[in-house]
Amino acid sequence: MPKHKQLRLLFDENPGLFDQLRQARTLEEAREEALMYVLKYESITLNTTDYNHPMERSVARKCINTLRNMLSKRSEELTGFSAIEAIWKLSKGRQEKFTKGFIREMRHLFKGMKGTTGLYTIDPESDAAEDNISNDSRTISRQRSYVLDGIAAKAHNWVKKYKSGLEREVVQRRKENKQRILEYFKATEEDWNSWEWQCRNVIRDAKMASDLINLTDDEKYSIAISRKHGIPFGITPYYAMLMDRKTDRVHDNAIRAQVIPPLEYSMFMANAKEGRGEELDFMGENDTSPEDLITRRYPMISIFKPYNTCAQICVYCQRNWEINDVLAKDSQAPQRKLEKAMEWYKAHPEITEILVTGGDPAIMSDAVMKHILDRIRELPQITRIRIGTRTPVVLPMRFSEEYADLLASYQIPGKREICVMTHFEHPYEVTPEAMDAVQKLRHRGISVYNQGVYTMENARRFEMVALRKALRLIGVDPYYTFNTKGKEEMRDYRIPIARLIQEQTEEARLNPGLERTDEAVFNIPRLGKNYLRAGQDHEVIMVLPEGERVYEFYPWDMSTTDVSPYLHIDLPIDEFLDKIQDKGEDPQDYRSIWYYL
Ligand code: SF4
Repeated sequence: MPKHKQLRLLFDENPGLFDQLRQARTLEEAREEALMYVLKYESITLNTTDYNHPMERSVARKCINTLRNMLSKRSEELTGFSAIEAIWKLSKGRQEKFTKGFIREMRHLFKGMKGTTGLYTIDPESDAAEDNISNDSRTISRQRSYVLDGIAAKAHNWVKKYKSGLEREVVQRRKENKQRILEYFKATEEDWNSWEWQCRNVIRDAKMASDLINLTDDEKYSIAISRKHGIPFGITPYYAMLMDRKTDRVHDNAIRAQVIPPLEYSMFMANAKEGRGEELDFMGENDTSPEDLITRRYPMISIFKPYNTCAQICVYCQRNWEINDVLAKDSQAPQRKLEKAMEWYKAHPEITEILVTGGDPAIMSDAVMKHILDRIRELPQITRIRIGTRTPVVLPMRFSEEYADLLASYQIPGKREICVMTHFEHPYEVTPEAMDAVQKLRHRGISVYNQGVYTMENARRFEMVALRKALRLIGVDPYYTFNTKGKEEMRDYRIPIARLIQEQTEEARLNPGLERTDEAVFNIPRLGKNYLRAGQDHEVIMVLPEGERVYEFYPWDMSTTDVSPYLHIDLPIDEFLDKIQDKGEDPQDYRSIWYYL
């Protein structure tokens, strides 16, 4: 619906408010009128039970809180914008530069406040039936079971839309892809199963990529720009095998998007590389590194980065500011730095858990990994070593019996645990080869966890549910789902926080508890994870002219240390809905997103 119609609706749905705003002579009068309007509805939430559905009241409370935040001078000071000034001017017919995204946010906040979202209904038939048979518990149970059948069937139908790499037809398609790639390299099955061979033959440029994968002109051009400007790029032959021959991205969109940079991204990064350098360090890792190779954001856990490249490069890598190139030769940290890092750990017995990551530490040779784990073993306080690696997804042949034995040899029940943290993004990445790698670890008592990133490529309804189900089947426990970083170059991938909370509430929640073990988190630069389901840890304090919500996050350690709240400007929900529609989705299926705050 165009902007002027949205505006008309906003006025028509709140006639009393806009009449008053038109008459207000000053901004403060307008603020007072708007506040009175909100307080009137707050009083209704406190004093009546007159809602069509109990959830309408719950939503109303949240919208009222948000509107009160937005009317406060504090929020205006923090964000440099006044929403009340904006709607006051709009009420007077001033053509301010506000997008329909802003107007839609305001409309939904007012609808939510009034308990008129229309999202929640009580089926009158089942209500009446319940009244009649309230003493017959078996009948009530059957009726409830019937309702649950309907909910489950709908969820299953959504999940079925997304193919898993374990499905027979997909496995067959990939066999053909593999054969084609082997012929190109004149290689053997034995070569293919060697992780060193895979690394030696990583696809590094547009020419080889288009020889092996069908690429669109944009994809080719984008890869060429990346290479020209020294932006890391690489795809293992194994991962290339996961891409379909057709370029329509019907099934393999998440896979292509993972490694083939969008054109806008390559352009942005080309400029950034030349001009901005470490501004790309979104998480401020440089500011949380007490010693080279070490990052510390939490009291008992530290990140240790002995190797700073990977077998292939993820487009939205958090560490794209420090990875020079795929499998770059100088990526191994020198012995001198390793020793200094170990000295630092010795001096910090408070650290009980080390996440060995990178880059991807599983690309280090067995001997180097052994050396590092031997040194960590000397630290008596370390009760858990986590290996952060994407190799189960992009290079599963890395997990030979010998390598799995090596990792398992550091696990001592009752004393020290070894875990592998990996990063699957989509069920299409879950393959028999990945399952084999995971099972080798599981058979040796090593748990494997997944940390996914929620992006435009896996954010359709129940897409993440499909991933969780596939992961559990191969032995991986979902651990974290990260909101995409607010990095400018990531705009094509970003989704609003509201979508992640909606997914957790309306999709993940329908599934068995052991499948939805992941926590949805927002990563705050320099401080780390903020749990999005913990409503007390964040608030929306403003909506900006483009429709971006401004979130104020209260970091986990605010109560113990002197840490300021963190402000995050989110992707406009309106923009997300337009993009999801471009992907062939019906925005109506996502309409409750406005009410997740
Ligand atoms: S595997 Fe991890 S560190 Fe390596 S490119 Fe991908 S996101 Fe970055």
